[in-house]
Amino acid sequence: MKFINQNYKKGGTQKTFYDLNDLQETNCLNCNSDKKYRIHSEFGNIGIVKCKNCDLIYTSPRPKNVELNYHGDKNNYHEEYKFIFNGTKPHHRDKNYIQELNIIKKFFKKGKIVDVGCNAGRFLHLAERYGFDTFGVEPSKSLADLGIENFSLNIENCKLENSSFLKKSIDIITAIDVFEHLTNPSIFLNKSYEILKKDGILVIKIPNGNYCLTKLKISKLLNKNTKNMDIFDSYEHVAHYTKKTFEKFISNTNFKIKKIYAPIPIHPPLWTNINNQYYLHPSPWIWDWKKVIMRKIFHFIGKIELLLRLPMYFQADILYVLEKK
Ligand SMILES: [Zn+2]
Repeated sequence: MKFINQNYKKGGTQKTFYDLNDLQETNCLNCNSDKKYRIHSEFGNIGIVKCKNCDLIYTSPRPKNVELNYHGDKNNYHEEYKFIFNGTKPHHRDKNYIQELNIIKKFFKKGKIVDVGCNAGRFLHLAERYGFDTFGVEPSKSLADLGIENFSLNIENCKLENSSFLKKSIDIITAIDVFEHLTNPSIFLNKSYEILKKDGILVIKIPNGNYCLTKLKISKLLNKNTKNMDIFDSYEHVAHYTKKTFEKFISNTNFKIKKIYAPIPIHPPLWTNINNQYYLHPSPWIWDWKKVIMRKIFHFIGKIELLLRLPMYFQADILYVLEKK
């Protein structure tokens, strides 16, 4: 199953081709420099660039209103989730979420957890079962409503900076695969600092920009048409942090790194290869066995890279537990 069907009915507002009119040039999210060079193009005219000043890899030009990508149709999202909501299927990320909860358990056995960009709340639904007092923040009304209606969760339909949490009231804030979507991550970090208790933790999981570069290099070596591949998720990811650039970014904030993890890979389901519908429960691994095995091998190497403190090129995602300085 090599063919990737891009013409399925999408929950979000993403497109398969972006015209220059759909895009806007941006400066570096870290240092605001406009000095950059292009390393790749995706989905038509979206650019992946590297800042000449601070080395951050980011998306420019990027889609206008890129943070509204998840403000899609509620019925479409419900269709994607329906077997998960009715309890007959697991979510394809359940294994990832459970690993993340087990990591959090090492720091807090219970407590108040706020999941930022909680989507329809699957992570929080599992966190509840792990004994946490759960709260969600989700800017997309469709997704927030689905989480409230189907998992009976406490979700505020807004961005974290507009939420109603009291100062120093929260034990754990999680941003799982969210930080790379933020066009102004400093606002998010400042608000997190404000509402976290003194000994609270901020858990940020990011895709590793260097892993994307590895995928790009391998695809070029295999003579694949990389312009038609989705390597950087650039229709929604505004920055592609690496271990080095993320840690540089955090060093200029009120947070410091407590612990770093190499989480298990995500295996996106491939239901769209057999019809025009995307579902969020796992598809049979046999459809994609080569990719599944490669991701597991890369993850094994990634764990060694982390252990030996090497620059990480094989680990797909990096998870940071941060604490207040
Ligand atoms: Zn920069």
